[in-house]
Amino acid sequence: MSEYLMNTYARQPLAFVKGEGAYLWDEEGRRYLDAVAGVAVNGLGHAHPRLVKAVCEQAQMLIHSSNLYRVKRQEELAERLCGLARMDRAFFCNSGCEANEAAIKLARLYGHQKGVENPVIIVMEKAFHGRTLATLTASGSRKIQAGFEPLMPGFARVPYNDADAVRLVAQHNPGVVAVLVEPVQGEGGVHPMAADYLARLRAICDEFGLLLMLDEVQTGIARTGEWFAFQHTGIEPDVIALAKGLGAGVPIGACLARGAAAEVFKPGNHGSTFGGNPLACAAALATLEAIEQEGLRENARRVGSHLLAALRSALGGRPGVREIRGQGLMIGVELDRPCGELVAVARERGYLVNVTSDTVIRLVPPLILTVEQADELAALLADIVPVFLRQAA
Ligand SMILES: *Cc1c(COP(=O)(O)O)cnc(C)c1O
Repeated sequence: MSEYLMNTYARQPLAFVKGEGAYLWDEEGRRYLDAVAGVAVNGLGHAHPRLVKAVCEQAQMLIHSSNLYRVKRQEELAERLCGLARMDRAFFCNSGCEANEAAIKLARLYGHQKGVENPVIIVMEKAFHGRTLATLTASGSRKIQAGFEPLMPGFARVPYNDADAVRLVAQHNPGVVAVLVEPVQGEGGVHPMAADYLARLRAICDEFGLLLMLDEVQTGIARTGEWFAFQHTGIEPDVIALAKGLGAGVPIGACLARGAAAEVFKPGNHGSTFGGNPLACAAALATLEAIEQEGLRENARRVGSHLLAALRSALGGRPGVREIRGQGLMIGVELDRPCGELVAVARERGYLVNVTSDTVIRLVPPLILTVEQADELAALLADIVPVFLRQAA
């Protein structure tokens, strides 16, 4: 481990030197099936020809020019994303926390424009929105917040999937201006929304004049089998935060807004030097193009349900296995005990998996995953999880 890097990550002791499709190779030439995908980032897998070509061609033309000028690729990407999400305007940044920061600032400005002096945003228990001061405050994990006090004012927390709790806060706190929620909680342990939750949130937001803001940083860009997870429901949000899968590995984030929310920012209110530069936008445009042309939403749905079913039939109902859940290619296997050590066990066998929230094996493979590769992953877990549960018992 490098003594020159700040000690922010407990890294696994290996480095990858190349990738192709759903596979990565380490320095020793060992191959791994990648069910982490750079934490739900590499939706196209590794070295996808369309993405590589777009990035190379754009780099040769123009990498960066700044938002002091029109950026044609950014305008193109904004139009494409707004078309896909039925939103009106986009703001571009470089990461998920920045996409949420934009949403939080937008909500506060929206509140002030309505005469609310101290705007409050309702956020959820177990939420994850990022590591900046505002987004770690919005996150529902003491581990992420501890030591960084004072936290930001202006957030009220309620349990996830509890619309009544949201209504109660909205009724009693006239400062509430928005609700910020993940359609499937990712870092919090792969918790999907209850069936009528989003519809109930929409109704509450309409009743009290609140913005419904979805953090789709992890769920967006076909991860759950639709372009955006809210599209499984027929309910439309006012604001959407995107990042992870958007550039398929090239850093880019976006905040999309609709209706009144889209008209909140004026020049000078918000910005980002790198945000939406030609290189990042070319990568995102190529990513969206590849997802469309190669039917990857359909693939995420099909291979995702296959993987979920295979895992349920292999492990469901076993003592020690609490629940197997997910949507599309975002799947969690929750055990009854901390299982971080399974990451190394899987790795030894040539598979990259992630454990989040201590007890949840999280699978977020590339959207190009095949049914055969899904079967391999299910067989791996069918093998290592029962052994682990017997040992740890
Ligand atoms: C990863 C993630 C973030 C933070 O994204 P960064 O790019 O690390 O800032 C925010 N929200 C959700 C739902 C995420 O999964």
